[in-house]
Amino acid sequence: MSTYAILTEAHDLKYLGINQIHTLPSDKDVWEFVPTKVDKIIRVNGIVLDKNSTEIKGIGKGFIYYKGTFTERAAIIISSDRNVYDEVDKSKSAVIRDYSSRMSFSKIGAKISLSTPTIPDFGIAALFKKSDQKYWRFNCPHCGCCQHMEWEKNVDFDFKKYICRKCHLELTPETIRSGRWEAKYPGRNISGYWIPQMIATYRTAKDLIKELEDAEDEQYFYNFILGLEYLNPESQISAGLILKNLIAEKNDEKDCVIGVDVQLRELYVIVGNEKGIFGIAKLEDGPGKDKWDRLAELVEVYEGRYVVIDAHYDTNSVLKFAKRFPYKVYMNWYKEDPKKIAIIRFGDEGKFTDKPKEFEEEIKVLTDRNRIIDALIDDLRKGKKIKFNFQRGDMRIDELISHVKKIYSRTVTDKVGEEHREWASLGQDDFFHALIYFKIALEKKLRYEE
Ligand SMILES: [Zn+2]
Repeated sequence: MSTYAILTEAHDLKYLGINQIHTLPSDKDVWEFVPTKVDKIIRVNGIVLDKNSTEIKGIGKGFIYYKGTFTERAAIIISSDRNVYDEVDKSKSAVIRDYSSRMSFSKIGAKISLSTPTIPDFGIAALFKKSDQKYWRFNCPHCGCCQHMEWEKNVDFDFKKYICRKCHLELTPETIRSGRWEAKYPGRNISGYWIPQMIATYRTAKDLIKELEDAEDEQYFYNFILGLEYLNPESQISAGLILKNLIAEKNDEKDCVIGVDVQLRELYVIVGNEKGIFGIAKLEDGPGKDKWDRLAELVEVYEGRYVVIDAHYDTNSVLKFAKRFPYKVYMNWYKEDPKKIAIIRFGDEGKFTDKPKEFEEEIKVLTDRNRIIDALIDDLRKGKKIKFNFQRGDMRIDELISHVKKIYSRTVTDKVGEEHREWASLGQDDFFHALIYFKIALEKKLRYEE
Protein backbone atom coordinates (compact mmCIF):
# COMPACT_ATOMS: atom_id res chain seq x y z
CA MET A 1 0.00 0.00 0.00
CA SER A 2 2.96 2.31 0.63
CA THR A 3 4.16 1.54 -2.90
CA TYR A 4 0.73 2.42 -4.25
CA ALA A 5 0.90 5.73 -2.36
CA ILE A 6 4.39 6.53 -3.67
CA LEU A 7 3.36 5.83 -7.28
CA THR A 8 0.21 7.94 -6.98
CA GLU A 9 2.11 10.81 -5.37
CA ALA A 10 4.91 10.77 -7.94
CA HIS A 11 2.46 10.57 -10.85
CA ASP A 12 0.32 13.44 -9.62
CA LEU A 13 3.36 15.56 -8.79
CA LYS A 14 4.58 15.18 -12.35
CA TYR A 15 1.29 15.41 -14.27
CA LEU A 16 -0.98 17.49 -12.00
CA GLY A 17 1.64 19.50 -10.10
CA ILE A 18 -0.30 19.20 -6.85
CA ASN A 19 1.06 19.67 -3.32
CA GLN A 20 1.22 16.62 -1.09
CA ILE A 21 2.26 15.70 2.43
CA HIS A 22 3.20 12.12 3.28
CA THR A 23 3.52 11.38 6.98
CA LEU A 24 5.25 8.47 8.69
CA PRO A 25 5.36 7.84 12.46
CA SER A 26 8.82 9.30 13.13
CA ASP A 27 11.60 11.25 11.41
CA LYS A 28 13.66 8.07 11.58
CA ASP A 29 11.02 6.34 9.47
CA VAL A 30 11.27 9.14 6.88
CA TRP A 31 15.05 8.72 6.68
CA GLU A 32 14.62 4.99 6.04
CA PHE A 33 11.55 5.09 3.81
CA VAL A 34 12.54 7.83 1.34
CA PRO A 35 15.95 6.54 0.19
CA THR A 36 14.95 2.87 0.05
CA LYS A 37 11.48 3.19 -1.47
CA VAL A 38 10.59 6.66 -2.80
CA ASP A 39 13.92 7.49 -4.44
CA LYS A 40 14.05 4.13 -6.23
CA ILE A 41 10.52 4.39 -7.61
CA ILE A 42 11.10 7.97 -8.80
CA ARG A 43 14.37 6.94 -10.44
CA VAL A 44 13.10 3.86 -12.30
CA ASN A 45 10.09 5.84 -13.57
CA GLY A 46 12.41 8.45 -15.03
CA ILE A 47 10.84 11.36 -13.14
CA VAL A 48 13.09 14.44 -13.17
CA LEU A 49 12.87 16.55 -10.02
CA ASP A 50 13.76 20.27 -9.61
CA LYS A 51 14.13 19.84 -5.91
CA ASN A 52 15.30 16.59 -4.36
CA SER A 53 16.09 15.99 -0.70
CA THR A 54 14.97 13.33 1.75
CA GLU A 55 12.16 15.55 3.01
CA ILE A 56 11.11 17.35 -0.17
CA LYS A 57 10.58 16.27 -3.77
CA GLY A 58 9.56 19.14 -6.05
CA ILE A 59 8.71 19.87 -9.67
CA GLY A 60 7.93 23.52 -10.47
CA LYS A 61 5.52 24.74 -7.81
CA GLY A 62 4.36 21.28 -6.85
CA PHE A 63 5.98 19.26 -4.10
CA ILE A 64 5.75 16.20 -1.87
CA TYR A 65 6.82 16.64 1.75
CA TYR A 66 7.82 13.58 3.79
CA LYS A 67 7.30 14.22 7.48
CA GLY A 68 7.50 12.36 10.80
CA THR A 69 4.71 12.94 13.32
CA PHE A 70 6.82 12.59 16.45
CA THR A 71 9.00 15.63 16.15
CA GLU A 72 9.76 18.69 18.27
CA ARG A 73 9.76 20.97 15.25
CA ALA A 74 6.52 22.70 14.44
CA ALA A 75 4.37 21.30 11.65
CA ILE A 76 5.13 22.97 8.33
CA ILE A 77 2.97 25.97 7.42
CA ILE A 78 2.07 25.14 3.86
CA SER A 79 -1.15 24.28 2.12
CA SER A 80 -1.57 20.82 0.71
CA ASP A 81 -3.92 19.20 -1.82
CA ARG A 82 -3.55 15.66 -0.63
CA ASN A 83 -2.17 14.07 2.52
CA VAL A 84 -1.11 10.49 2.90
CA TYR A 85 -0.92 9.23 6.49
CA ASP A 86 1.19 6.10 6.48
CA GLU A 87 1.14 3.85 9.58
CA VAL A 88 -1.65 5.87 11.17
CA ASP A 89 -1.86 3.71 14.27
CA LYS A 90 1.78 4.36 15.16
CA SER A 91 1.58 8.09 14.38
CA LYS A 92 0.79 11.01 16.67
CA SER A 93 -2.88 11.85 16.11
CA ALA A 94 -2.58 15.53 17.11
CA VAL A 95 0.04 16.11 14.41
CA ILE A 96 -2.09 14.31 11.82
CA ARG A 97 -5.00 16.60 12.72
CA ASP A 98 -2.72 19.58 12.28
CA TYR A 99 -1.66 18.43 8.82
CA SER A 100 -5.31 17.81 7.88
CA SER A 101 -5.99 21.50 8.53
CA ARG A 102 -3.36 22.30 5.86
CA MET A 103 -5.88 21.23 3.20
CA SER A 104 -8.65 23.72 4.05
CA PHE A 105 -7.96 25.82 0.95
CA SER A 106 -7.52 22.99 -1.52
CA LYS A 107 -10.17 22.08 -4.09
CA ILE A 108 -8.97 18.48 -3.88
CA GLY A 109 -8.46 18.00 -0.13
CA ALA A 110 -7.97 14.23 -0.29
CA LYS A 111 -6.77 12.15 2.63
CA ILE A 112 -5.38 8.65 2.35
CA SER A 113 -4.82 6.73 5.58
CA LEU A 114 -2.87 3.46 5.57
CA SER A 115 -2.12 1.22 8.51
CA THR A 116 -2.00 -2.15 10.10
CA PRO A 117 -4.79 -2.00 12.66
CA THR A 118 -3.98 -2.26 16.36
CA ILE A 119 -6.84 -2.01 18.84
CA PRO A 120 -10.62 -1.51 18.45
CA ASP A 121 -11.99 1.98 17.77
CA PHE A 122 -8.55 3.44 17.33
CA GLY A 123 -6.70 4.80 14.29
CA ILE A 124 -7.35 2.87 11.11
CA ALA A 125 -9.92 0.56 12.74
CA ALA A 126 -12.04 3.58 13.74
CA LEU A 127 -11.72 5.02 10.21
CA PHE A 128 -12.64 1.72 8.57
CA LYS A 129 -15.73 1.51 10.80
CA LYS A 130 -16.87 4.92 9.51
CA SER A 131 -16.13 3.98 5.89
CA ASP A 132 -18.18 2.14 3.28
CA GLN A 133 -16.29 -1.04 4.37
CA LYS A 134 -15.22 -2.82 1.22
CA TYR A 135 -14.61 -6.55 1.43
CA TRP A 136 -13.17 -8.81 -1.26
CA ARG A 137 -16.26 -10.90 -2.14
CA PHE A 138 -16.48 -13.98 -4.36
CA ASN A 139 -18.97 -16.75 -5.13
CA CYS A 140 -18.44 -20.36 -4.19
CA PRO A 141 -18.28 -22.42 -7.43
CA HIS A 142 -19.96 -25.35 -5.67
CA CYS A 143 -22.97 -23.76 -3.94
CA GLY A 144 -22.90 -20.18 -5.28
CA CYS A 145 -22.74 -18.60 -1.81
CA CYS A 146 -21.39 -15.03 -1.99
CA GLN A 147 -18.88 -14.44 0.80
CA HIS A 148 -15.62 -12.88 1.96
CA MET A 149 -12.85 -14.60 3.84
CA GLU A 150 -13.04 -14.88 7.61
CA TRP A 151 -10.55 -16.85 9.66
CA GLU A 152 -13.04 -18.73 11.84
CA LYS A 153 -15.44 -19.54 9.00
CA ASN A 154 -13.29 -20.19 5.93
CA VAL A 155 -10.46 -22.35 7.25
CA ASP A 156 -10.45 -26.13 7.59
CA PHE A 157 -7.89 -26.45 10.38
CA ASP A 158 -7.57 -30.25 10.08
CA PHE A 159 -6.76 -30.34 6.37
CA LYS A 160 -5.22 -26.85 6.40
CA LYS A 161 -7.13 -25.45 3.47
CA TYR A 162 -9.65 -22.71 2.66
CA ILE A 163 -13.26 -23.83 2.46
CA CYS A 164 -16.64 -22.33 1.58
CA ARG A 165 -18.32 -21.07 4.73
CA LYS A 166 -21.61 -22.67 3.65
CA CYS A 167 -20.95 -25.98 1.83
CA HIS A 168 -17.45 -26.53 3.33
CA LEU A 169 -15.98 -27.57 -0.04
CA GLU A 170 -12.50 -26.36 -0.92
CA LEU A 171 -11.89 -22.86 -2.30
CA THR A 172 -9.10 -22.63 -4.87
CA PRO A 173 -6.87 -19.56 -5.39
CA GLU A 174 -8.69 -19.05 -8.73
CA THR A 175 -12.04 -18.81 -6.94
CA ILE A 176 -10.68 -16.28 -4.47
CA ARG A 177 -9.06 -14.26 -7.27
CA SER A 178 -12.36 -14.17 -9.17
CA GLY A 179 -13.85 -11.81 -6.58
CA ARG A 180 -14.42 -8.04 -6.53
CA TRP A 181 -14.54 -5.27 -3.91
CA GLU A 182 -18.02 -4.82 -2.51
CA ALA A 183 -19.02 -2.17 0.00
CA LYS A 184 -21.09 -3.14 3.00
CA TYR A 185 -22.32 0.48 3.23
CA PRO A 186 -22.27 1.87 -0.32
CA GLY A 187 -22.48 5.64 -0.54
CA ARG A 188 -20.59 6.55 2.62
CA ASN A 189 -18.05 9.27 1.91
CA ILE A 190 -14.99 7.40 3.18
CA SER A 191 -13.82 4.60 0.93
CA GLY A 192 -12.38 1.78 3.06
CA TYR A 193 -10.68 -1.48 2.15
CA TRP A 194 -10.00 -4.45 4.42
CA ILE A 195 -7.00 -6.36 3.10
CA PRO A 196 -6.29 -9.55 5.06
CA GLN A 197 -3.51 -11.88 3.94
CA MET A 198 -6.23 -14.49 3.35
CA ILE A 199 -6.98 -12.83 0.00
CA ALA A 200 -3.34 -12.76 -1.10
CA THR A 201 -3.52 -16.10 -2.88
CA TYR A 202 0.26 -16.62 -2.93
CA ARG A 203 -0.20 -17.30 0.77
CA THR A 204 -1.95 -20.58 1.51
CA ALA A 205 -4.14 -21.55 4.46
CA LYS A 206 -1.24 -23.74 5.56
CA ASP A 207 1.14 -20.73 5.56
CA LEU A 208 -1.20 -18.68 7.71
CA ILE A 209 -1.89 -21.50 10.19
CA LYS A 210 1.89 -21.75 10.59
CA GLU A 211 2.03 -17.96 11.14
CA LEU A 212 -0.51 -18.34 13.93
CA GLU A 213 1.47 -21.17 15.53
CA ASP A 214 4.72 -19.19 15.28
CA ALA A 215 3.25 -15.83 16.32
CA GLU A 216 4.56 -14.41 19.58
CA ASP A 217 1.02 -13.51 20.54
CA GLU A 218 -2.47 -13.35 19.10
CA GLN A 219 -2.20 -9.57 18.80
CA TYR A 220 0.44 -9.96 16.10
CA PHE A 221 -1.52 -12.55 14.13
CA TYR A 222 -4.78 -10.59 14.20
CA ASN A 223 -3.17 -7.23 13.38
CA PHE A 224 -0.54 -8.17 10.81
CA ILE A 225 -1.92 -11.30 9.16
CA LEU A 226 -5.68 -10.87 9.35
CA GLY A 227 -5.66 -7.06 9.30
CA LEU A 228 -8.01 -7.00 12.27
CA GLU A 229 -8.13 -4.95 15.44
CA TYR A 230 -7.39 -6.91 18.61
CA LEU A 231 -7.57 -6.17 22.29
CA ASN A 232 -5.67 -8.42 24.64
CA PRO A 233 -7.80 -8.92 27.78
CA GLU A 234 -4.61 -8.72 29.87
CA SER A 235 -3.98 -5.13 28.83
CA GLN A 236 -7.21 -4.01 30.51
CA ILE A 237 -8.07 -3.30 34.12
CA SER A 238 -10.34 -6.09 35.30
CA ALA A 239 -13.70 -5.58 37.02
CA GLY A 240 -12.33 -7.81 39.80
CA LEU A 241 -10.01 -5.02 40.96
CA ILE A 242 -13.02 -2.88 41.88
CA LEU A 243 -15.19 -5.78 43.14
CA LYS A 244 -12.54 -7.05 45.56
CA ASN A 245 -12.53 -3.64 47.27
CA LEU A 246 -16.26 -3.47 47.98
CA ILE A 247 -16.96 -3.37 51.72
CA ALA A 248 -20.20 -3.92 53.57
CA GLU A 249 -19.71 -1.36 56.40
CA LYS A 250 -21.61 1.87 56.24
CA ASN A 251 -19.51 5.02 55.84
CA ASP A 252 -19.71 7.73 58.56
CA GLU A 253 -19.44 10.32 55.74
CA LYS A 254 -17.01 12.50 57.72
CA ASP A 255 -13.92 14.37 56.44
CA CYS A 256 -14.82 13.84 52.83
CA VAL A 257 -12.81 14.47 49.72
CA ILE A 258 -14.23 14.73 46.21
CA GLY A 259 -12.91 13.98 42.71
CA VAL A 260 -14.62 15.56 39.67
CA ASP A 261 -14.25 14.94 35.94
CA VAL A 262 -15.65 17.69 33.71
CA GLN A 263 -17.53 17.12 30.47
CA LEU A 264 -19.66 19.38 28.28
CA ARG A 265 -23.00 18.44 29.85
CA GLU A 266 -22.10 16.57 33.01
CA LEU A 267 -19.81 16.46 35.99
CA TYR A 268 -18.72 12.98 37.07
CA VAL A 269 -18.27 12.96 40.83
CA ILE A 270 -16.75 10.54 43.32
CA VAL A 271 -17.22 11.27 47.05
CA GLY A 272 -15.65 9.46 49.99
CA ASN A 273 -13.02 9.39 52.69
CA GLU A 274 -10.27 7.08 53.96
CA LYS A 275 -12.88 4.54 55.00
CA GLY A 276 -14.34 4.28 51.54
CA ILE A 277 -16.13 5.80 48.59
CA PHE A 278 -19.88 6.16 49.13
CA GLY A 279 -20.91 8.55 46.35
CA ILE A 280 -20.71 7.97 42.61
CA ALA A 281 -22.82 10.55 40.79
CA LYS A 282 -23.38 12.31 37.51
CA LEU A 283 -24.46 15.97 37.88
CA GLU A 284 -26.32 17.68 35.04
CA ASP A 285 -27.81 21.13 34.50
CA GLY A 286 -31.32 21.28 35.91
CA PRO A 287 -34.08 23.90 36.21
CA GLY A 288 -32.73 26.91 38.12
CA LYS A 289 -29.49 25.14 38.99
CA ASP A 290 -26.59 24.29 36.77
CA LYS A 291 -24.21 21.39 37.33
CA TRP A 292 -21.76 23.66 39.18
CA ASP A 293 -24.47 24.77 41.65
CA ARG A 294 -25.27 21.13 42.28
CA LEU A 295 -21.58 20.39 42.88
CA ALA A 296 -21.46 23.33 45.33
CA GLU A 297 -24.35 21.75 47.24
CA LEU A 298 -22.47 18.47 47.44
CA VAL A 299 -19.33 20.20 48.72
CA GLU A 300 -21.41 21.92 51.42
CA VAL A 301 -23.47 18.88 52.44
CA TYR A 302 -20.44 16.61 52.81
CA GLU A 303 -18.17 19.40 54.12
CA GLY A 304 -15.71 18.38 51.46
CA ARG A 305 -12.25 19.21 52.76
CA TYR A 306 -10.46 18.77 49.44
CA VAL A 307 -11.99 18.79 45.99
CA VAL A 308 -9.85 17.97 42.93
CA ILE A 309 -11.33 18.90 39.55
CA ASP A 310 -10.16 18.19 36.02
CA ALA A 311 -8.90 21.52 34.63
CA HIS A 312 -8.28 20.54 30.99
CA TYR A 313 -11.78 20.66 29.62
CA ASP A 314 -13.33 23.91 30.88
CA THR A 315 -10.61 25.79 32.75
CA ASN A 316 -12.58 29.01 33.23
CA SER A 317 -15.62 27.38 34.83
CA VAL A 318 -13.39 25.35 37.14
CA LEU A 319 -11.46 28.46 38.19
CA LYS A 320 -14.73 30.29 38.85
CA PHE A 321 -15.89 27.37 40.99
CA ALA A 322 -12.54 27.27 42.83
CA LYS A 323 -13.02 30.92 43.82
CA ARG A 324 -16.32 29.98 45.51
CA PHE A 325 -14.39 27.62 47.79
CA PRO A 326 -10.92 29.15 48.22
CA TYR A 327 -8.17 26.60 49.00
CA LYS A 328 -10.64 23.74 49.07
CA VAL A 329 -10.82 23.26 45.34
CA TYR A 330 -7.71 22.23 43.40
CA MET A 331 -7.39 22.22 39.62
CA ASN A 332 -5.67 19.16 38.16
CA TRP A 333 -3.63 19.04 34.96
CA TYR A 334 -2.08 15.86 33.63
CA LYS A 335 1.56 16.76 33.18
CA GLU A 336 4.74 14.81 33.77
CA ASP A 337 7.36 15.96 36.24
CA PRO A 338 10.33 16.85 33.99
CA LYS A 339 12.61 15.38 36.67
CA LYS A 340 10.42 12.24 36.78
CA ILE A 341 10.43 12.29 40.57
CA ALA A 342 6.96 13.25 41.79
CA ILE A 343 3.72 11.67 40.60
CA ILE A 344 1.62 14.53 42.01
CA ARG A 345 2.89 18.10 42.43
CA PHE A 346 0.76 20.59 44.40
CA GLY A 347 1.17 24.29 43.59
CA ASP A 348 0.94 25.31 47.25
CA GLU A 349 3.70 22.89 48.26
CA GLY A 350 6.47 23.36 45.75
CA LYS A 351 7.46 25.94 43.22
CA PHE A 352 6.58 25.65 39.56
CA THR A 353 8.05 29.12 38.86
CA ASP A 354 10.05 31.78 40.74
CA LYS A 355 7.27 34.31 40.38
CA PRO A 356 5.24 35.17 43.49
CA LYS A 357 2.29 32.85 43.81
CA GLU A 358 -1.07 33.93 42.57
CA PHE A 359 -4.25 32.14 43.63
CA GLU A 360 -4.45 30.26 40.35
CA GLU A 361 -0.90 28.94 40.75
CA GLU A 362 -1.46 27.86 44.33
CA ILE A 363 -4.46 25.69 43.58
CA LYS A 364 -2.80 24.05 40.60
CA VAL A 365 -1.99 20.33 40.73
CA LEU A 366 0.20 18.63 38.14
CA THR A 367 -0.12 14.86 37.94
CA ASP A 368 1.79 12.31 35.87
CA ARG A 369 -1.09 10.54 34.09
CA ASN A 370 0.56 7.16 33.48
CA ARG A 371 2.12 6.90 36.92
CA ILE A 372 -1.02 7.91 38.83
CA ILE A 373 -2.97 5.21 36.97
CA ASP A 374 -0.25 2.68 37.88
CA ALA A 375 -0.46 3.85 41.50
CA LEU A 376 -4.26 3.59 41.57
CA ILE A 377 -4.14 0.05 40.18
CA ASP A 378 -1.50 -0.82 42.75
CA ASP A 379 -3.79 0.47 45.54
CA LEU A 380 -6.70 -1.58 44.23
CA ARG A 381 -4.57 -4.68 43.79
CA LYS A 382 -3.15 -4.49 47.31
CA GLY A 383 -6.56 -3.60 48.73
CA LYS A 384 -5.29 -0.45 50.44
CA LYS A 385 -6.39 3.20 50.48
CA ILE A 386 -9.32 2.88 48.05
CA LYS A 387 -12.44 1.05 49.28
CA PHE A 388 -16.06 1.22 48.11
CA ASN A 389 -19.05 1.22 50.50
CA PHE A 390 -21.21 -0.46 47.91
CA GLN A 391 -22.79 -3.81 47.32
CA ARG A 392 -22.14 -6.03 44.35
CA GLY A 393 -24.66 -5.39 41.57
CA ASP A 394 -25.21 -1.73 42.49
CA MET A 395 -25.83 0.19 39.26
CA ARG A 396 -23.35 2.90 40.25
CA ILE A 397 -20.57 0.36 40.74
CA ASP A 398 -21.45 -1.27 37.41
CA GLU A 399 -21.22 2.09 35.66
CA LEU A 400 -17.86 2.82 37.30
CA ILE A 401 -16.62 -0.61 36.16
CA SER A 402 -17.76 0.03 32.59
CA HIS A 403 -15.69 3.25 32.60
CA VAL A 404 -12.68 1.51 34.17
CA LYS A 405 -12.77 -1.14 31.45
CA LYS A 406 -12.28 1.51 28.77
CA ILE A 407 -8.72 1.99 29.99
CA TYR A 408 -6.02 -0.25 28.55
CA SER A 409 -2.26 -0.18 28.27
CA ARG A 410 -0.42 0.02 24.98
CA THR A 411 3.11 0.48 23.77
CA VAL A 412 3.91 3.65 21.86
CA THR A 413 7.02 4.88 20.09
CA ASP A 414 8.29 8.34 21.05
CA LYS A 415 10.01 10.91 18.87
CA VAL A 416 13.45 9.39 19.34
CA GLY A 417 12.11 5.95 18.47
CA GLU A 418 12.00 4.54 21.99
CA GLU A 419 9.10 2.40 23.12
CA HIS A 420 7.04 3.30 26.18
CA ARG A 421 4.01 1.83 27.84
CA GLU A 422 1.09 4.20 28.32
CA TRP A 423 -2.54 4.11 29.39
CA ALA A 424 -5.02 4.92 26.66
CA SER A 425 -8.79 4.95 26.43
CA LEU A 426 -11.38 3.26 24.22
CA GLY A 427 -14.25 5.60 25.04
CA GLN A 428 -16.25 6.92 27.94
CA ASP A 429 -14.02 6.76 31.00
CA ASP A 430 -15.11 9.80 33.05
CA PHE A 431 -15.78 7.99 36.33
CA PHE A 432 -12.34 6.40 36.07
CA HIS A 433 -10.76 9.86 35.93
CA ALA A 434 -13.05 11.10 38.75
CA LEU A 435 -11.64 8.18 40.76
CA ILE A 436 -8.10 9.37 40.02
CA TYR A 437 -8.99 12.92 41.12
CA PHE A 438 -10.51 11.42 44.27
CA LYS A 439 -7.20 9.65 44.92
CA ILE A 440 -5.31 12.94 44.46
CA ALA A 441 -7.69 14.70 46.89
CA LEU A 442 -7.24 11.91 49.44
CA GLU A 443 -3.47 12.17 49.02
CA LYS A 444 -3.65 15.92 49.68
CA LYS A 445 -5.65 15.36 52.86
CA LEU A 446 -3.19 12.77 54.17
CA ARG A 447 -0.24 15.10 53.47
CA TYR A 448 -1.99 17.96 55.26
CA GLU A 449 -2.69 15.82 58.29
CA GLU A 450 0.92 14.71 58.48
ZN1 LIG B 1 -20.06 -23.37 -1.15
